[in-house]
Amino acid sequence: AASPRELIEAARSQGVVMVDLKFVDVPGQWQHFHVPIDQLTEQAFVEGFGFDGSSIRGFQAINESDMLLVPDLATAFIDPFYSHRTLSLVCEVRDPETGRPYERDPRYIARKAEAYLRATGIADVSYWGPEAEFFILDSARFHQDQHSGYYFVDSDEGFWNSGRDHTPNAGHRPRYKEGYFPVPPVDSVSDVRADIALTLQSLGVPVETHHHEVATAGQAEVDLRYASLTAMGDRVMMLKYVAKNVARRHGKTVTFMPKPLFGDNGSGMHTHQSLWKDGRNLFYDKDGYAGLSETARYYIGGLLAHGRALAALCSPTTNSYKRLVPGFEAPVNLVYSKRNRSAAVRIPMYSQAPAARRIEYRPPDPSANPYLAFAAMLLAGLDGIENRIDPGDPVDRDLYSLTPAELLSIRSLPGSLEEALEALQDDYHFLLKGGVFTKDFIDLWIAYKRQREALAVSTRPHPWEFVLYFDV
Ligand code: GLN
Ligand code: MG
Ligand code: MG
Ligand code: MG
Repeated sequence: AASPRELIEAARSQGVVMVDLKFVDVPGQWQHFHVPIDQLTEQAFVEGFGFDGSSIRGFQAINESDMLLVPDLATAFIDPFYSHRTLSLVCEVRDPETGRPYERDPRYIARKAEAYLRATGIADVSYWGPEAEFFILDSARFHQDQHSGYYFVDSDEGFWNSGRDHTPNAGHRPRYKEGYFPVPPVDSVSDVRADIALTLQSLGVPVETHHHEVATAGQAEVDLRYASLTAMGDRVMMLKYVAKNVARRHGKTVTFMPKPLFGDNGSGMHTHQSLWKDGRNLFYDKDGYAGLSETARYYIGGLLAHGRALAALCSPTTNSYKRLVPGFEAPVNLVYSKRNRSAAVRIPMYSQAPAARRIEYRPPDPSANPYLAFAAMLLAGLDGIENRIDPGDPVDRDLYSLTPAELLSIRSLPGSLEEALEALQDDYHFLLKGGVFTKDFIDLWIAYKRQREALAVSTRPHPWEFVLYFDV
């Protein structure tokens, strides 16, 4: 719809009775509430709808908790997961007193990143192509420990297991590390994935491909067609929403946690990216290494130089660091290379076409808030371009096989969320450029992640500690 009036008329003529107002919280999950269709007036697109910001993770304090949601017209879709015909709108969060966009709204940070890119004059637009990996599981159980109140999680696939010895799949399950990608019946979740992909397409989210991934237990990948930064943030939110809800209809459950199974591949969200100006791909130069321009090399230099701080936003959970270990196609070292899946930056060599020239940043995983992760990667890359940060020579070898002496000269990603938060604390100025991230937001992120996640995990006895230490 071109205007609020058109949207309201179209919704009414399509029998919409409810409106679902969605927005994203600080860690990166959609929150929502409903209003009946008669409340969706043209005025509402200006004045917004009130809600209590103090109950939302990372938002307001109780003494200043009134906040507003203003719907973004461009995000309208009929939500297929309600039984009443429901129009969904992703909203901008505003402060009712100032009328200004809310500085802690992750989507606003994404929009500011796009505005900053244009303001630099370096490019008009950035394109983003994430590859989301996730597990489609038969079940997940949460057990509450009587004494500690601690929730244990497991599933038929065995979260604490190696991934090699769980329940049989009528004789047809992928051999270890051979999930990529035999036909059915070994691929037992093809129909679920197809349903996810078709639902996304019907909601205006183009899918490039879907397939089984390397891990044994129904690991899936859905790749989205590239789009600009905020639009892609919206699409990743949509992908997670659709995947979880479609799987539920199939009697399955989905997790985007990066490493649910010990000893098997984890789930990444490799992110392809390029910068464009006047319809031209700034990353392409036929004479450069892997067809990359000098601009692309500096962009890589920025990603690698800030890679440790970026981890706090791109791999932002304690579980992320269980994925970033050698041996599972996840990166550990901050180097770049063409076709090399053990490097943090890979240059895909499938297509030689100028428009296809792009870089793939592999550390991100789907526990990231996509708006924040994309904005942060863009700012790191731009910092590389502005300061002509040389990424050094490519490393075209298998990095998992380097000797300890060779590894000494290579920087690596943080080994834990705590280490990543420390790296962010030491290196956040590039994120403040153009006012994209505020210092308040960085401080909030570090405090939130440290208190509510890193410390919450590190202070709880781990099941494997009982294996190691029960008999000390
Ligand atoms: N699952 C791997 C990761 O964690 C990637 C596998 C692949 O796409 N080749 O990044
Ligand atoms: Mg892929
Ligand atoms: Mg993959
Ligand atoms: Mg990839």
